Amino acid sequence: MLIEELIVQIRLWKKQIFKNHSKFCLTMLSIAKKALIVIDYDKTMVEYDSDDWMLEKVGYKFEKPVDIDQIVDWIGYIAPIEVELTTKYKVSVEKQRSIMEEIPSVEYFPDFLKYLLQEKEMKFKNCEFWIVSGSNTLYIEWYLERNKVSKLIDKIIANPSYVDEKTKFFIQKPYHENSCKYCTKNMCKQKAMKDMLAIEKKQFEKILYIGDGKFDFCTCSQMLTGKDIIFARKGFKLEKMLQSSKDNCKATVNVWANGKELQKSFENLLI
Ligand SMILES: [Mg+2]
Ligand SMILES: [Zn+2]
Repeated sequence: MLIEELIVQIRLWKKQIFKNHSKFCLTMLSIAKKALIVIDYDKTMVEYDSDDWMLEKVGYKFEKPVDIDQIVDWIGYIAPIEVELTTKYKVSVEKQRSIMEEIPSVEYFPDFLKYLLQEKEMKFKNCEFWIVSGSNTLYIEWYLERNKVSKLIDKIIANPSYVDEKTKFFIQKPYHENSCKYCTKNMCKQKAMKDMLAIEKKQFEKILYIGDGKFDFCTCSQMLTGKDIIFARKGFKLEKMLQSSKDNCKATVNVWANGKELQKSFENLLI
């Protein structure tokens, strides 16, 4: 082979190698991650509904009795009250943070979160941890920081909240608008998760969902499939709703009473 021919051949090989390499990279990108672990916040990580806890501790007086379960526009209801905490009750956001830091955890839940964090780069390598909650981002961030587990959580999907620089008020906004029949106007967890997976072009082999309440039912019954596992808190609304609509739910359902039981289940999981 002439030297010129050899150079041409080498160029062809190089082209081929580059083509195959690109193909390989594309295949790598489209491989699904192992598992998405979704955790609810109110009454799953912490014993209280976080807004109830705040209002109770501040001594907020309702003008007229309300049936919380009937409120569809949750942010329309709670956002003005949160501003009142500063204007009428003179409770600063710093004080609100210290109140929120005292919110009691569900038994052994911080230990469970610490176990997950410890195993994040080993057993749960190639998994993601999301909090999907009808509470707000600041309350959840404060809780995670207090328990030194912020690094565990890859994403918080919750109503966005912040402290207004000028007024120093605690501001909370709706996560999104939706018309889901199972959910509140400000958040459908199922839609929130599907939208996020689409935006980030993420795929997971399975979803593990830890929750307790009626607003977890939408995702559990409509979105999760036979490969997924639901961890429903024992004796709470989600467990009851799943029991009474067994045929609709495709995922496997496990019940748990505290963080220790969850940890045991996760230790035995084959991921
Ligand atoms: Mg909950
Ligand atoms: Zn929904």
